[in-house]
Amino acid sequence: MQSRVDRQIRALALAQQCAAHGARVRTISRITGMNPRDLLRLLFPERQSVPRGRAPDSPEWYHGANLLYRAEASIVMSIYRRLRTADFSGGEALLGAYRQYVGVCQPPHRISFDRAFDLAAHTDGLWLTESRSFSLVVCPACHSEFLAAFGSVALSNDQCPFCKLVQRYGTDPRVQSSFPARPLVNPSPIQLGMLTLLRASDHLSTRSRESG
Ligand SMILES: [Zn+2]
Repeated sequence: MQSRVDRQIRALALAQQCAAHGARVRTISRITGMNPRDLLRLLFPERQSVPRGRAPDSPEWYHGANLLYRAEASIVMSIYRRLRTADFSGGEALLGAYRQYVGVCQPPHRISFDRAFDLAAHTDGLWLTESRSFSLVVCPACHSEFLAAFGSVALSNDQCPFCKLVQRYGTDPRVQSSFPARPLVNPSPIQLGMLTLLRASDHLSTRSRESG
């Protein structure tokens, strides 16, 4: 049984790591259950460095976001889902997924920590809301997991951001620099979609070995 002190130390460590990834106070408070005033005092003693601006609202945003944003959002949530399935708490899974995403995808990282938090909240009905707006579905063509409206069934690859990226790969330098597919010169759809996820799952298995 964890003592109260142990729980508080773990919450504070989690809070500190979320802040290091640019999370805003509201996000950290929802994840850790810590009081926003305490967080502000402990994590942002110099008030200037507090992240500000409008909080993300993903159910609206995702379906209108461009392809690279949708692909990166899907990568974060795919890793998050695996960590949740491996019994990590929501906060630990989110932090772990975000770290791996930053390690796997090339900068600039289009998904902020707050965005990842908002996506996870609306996928699991957690922290901010009880209703679910997203499901992770598997593309029947490239077998990558991607975010879709809650309850969707992927009967074709029409909505799959990875298949669309692959179609554009040869002609769009932005796509090429975001997903450099070394050492594959001319990646097939399956290779590219899976490459991204394989890299993610490599990091994941290393992490579960370390923490197991
Ligand atoms: Zn696909």
